[in-house]
Amino acid sequence: MSSNSSPPTADRTDLPDDTPNSALATARQQLERAAAHIDINPAIVERLRHPDSVHEVTIPVERDDGTVEVFTGYRVHHDNVRGPGKGGLRYHPDVSREESIGLAIWMTWKCAVMDLPFGGAKGGVVVDPKSLSEGEKERLTRRFTHEIRDVIGPKTDIPAPDMGTDAQTMSWIMDAYSMVEGETVPGVVTGKPPVNGGSYGREEAPGRSVAIITREACDYYDRSISDVTVAVQGFGSVGANAARLLDEWGATVVAVSDVGGAAYDSAGIDPSSIPSHAEEPEAVTEAGETTISNEELLALDVDVLIPAAIGNVITADNAADVRADIVVEGANGPTTTPADAILSERDVAVIPDILANAGGVTVSYFEWLQHINRRSWSLERVQEELEAEMLSAWENVRREVDERGVTWRDGAYIVALSRLAEAHENRGLWP
Ligand code: GLU
Repeated sequence: MSSNSSPPTADRTDLPDDTPNSALATARQQLERAAAHIDINPAIVERLRHPDSVHEVTIPVERDDGTVEVFTGYRVHHDNVRGPGKGGLRYHPDVSREESIGLAIWMTWKCAVMDLPFGGAKGGVVVDPKSLSEGEKERLTRRFTHEIRDVIGPKTDIPAPDMGTDAQTMSWIMDAYSMVEGETVPGVVTGKPPVNGGSYGREEAPGRSVAIITREACDYYDRSISDVTVAVQGFGSVGANAARLLDEWGATVVAVSDVGGAAYDSAGIDPSSIPSHAEEPEAVTEAGETTISNEELLALDVDVLIPAAIGNVITADNAADVRADIVVEGANGPTTTPADAILSERDVAVIPDILANAGGVTVSYFEWLQHINRRSWSLERVQEELEAEMLSAWENVRREVDERGVTWRDGAYIVALSRLAEAHENRGLWP
């Protein structure tokens, strides 16, 4: 295999974390903030600032015209003290070594705050998937799987869908891995189609958890879900499913958006009648009374704002314009650290990504259990157990928020970091 792991220590301690608002810089700042609230061994904080390993691979792919193009891929393992690595694979032009590390760190917190027996991992390929034909995407995925096959596996690191990848991508990875293994290994990835050992409800799970957490947050702030107005940025899997469920539960969804802009209607939009961006790219912007920009959507006077598209959309430049009382993070890392400080000063409640969108990895965990037990769960069971896991995580975070008077983000990090620190203390340092 041509995958090359990073050299130990020196290179890794020098990882660039000074790029403003990079996922890595933000993840490290959040770690330090949370560590300040609890009694934690500084050596453990130092360990958690660094990934366990970074794998960078070269992926040559034959294009449909017969030429060969070479892509770069990454798989990062951050910390596995609580179990095998878990996290998505992203196909996006902005994928980088630094971003993959930051996102892997977030997966460690996300799994810990949900109390799942997983550590954090993440990866991706630097590519715009829209520039590839279906055949090119398949060849890229199969070769990428081959290049990272030694560092993934059902007991070591289990990839899942993320931006630019989906259930079909997971099927190809599972097949490529299984063909060399000599047996079908459904547990090597989650987010597969149910017919290939995937879990019912996995596709909608991140959006469903965003909706559940939005409902709980509204309840906490004494608002009934049927009285609130909601603006959702992004109409991919997370945004579309969250908007549809919140609408179903009685909320008034006044705006939805995709990369082309936002549809706005103060009387409410029916999100279930809008095809997702993937199904029909033009449909989203045309769905409302008026079309506004994504920037204007962030500044709408609504009760709840759900940024569910990409990272770094709420920044120091626009945080003062946010008029929502509650922000529920559907995307990973939509709020930069300076923006977080501005929102907190303005008493805007920000419910963090590692809690709100954790339904995806939680149902991934259910899928992994179904593989181990060779028994599939009904959609009803998945939804019931997801609801229970989300409520239990919400309750743990709420307790920290109430007892310590901290932000929701700090509360979630305190829950996660306390579990990670205790696990590290108990296991100690090897050798
Ligand atoms: N990519 C998703 C996330 O960011 C899901 C990861 C998983 O299911 O392993 O949480």
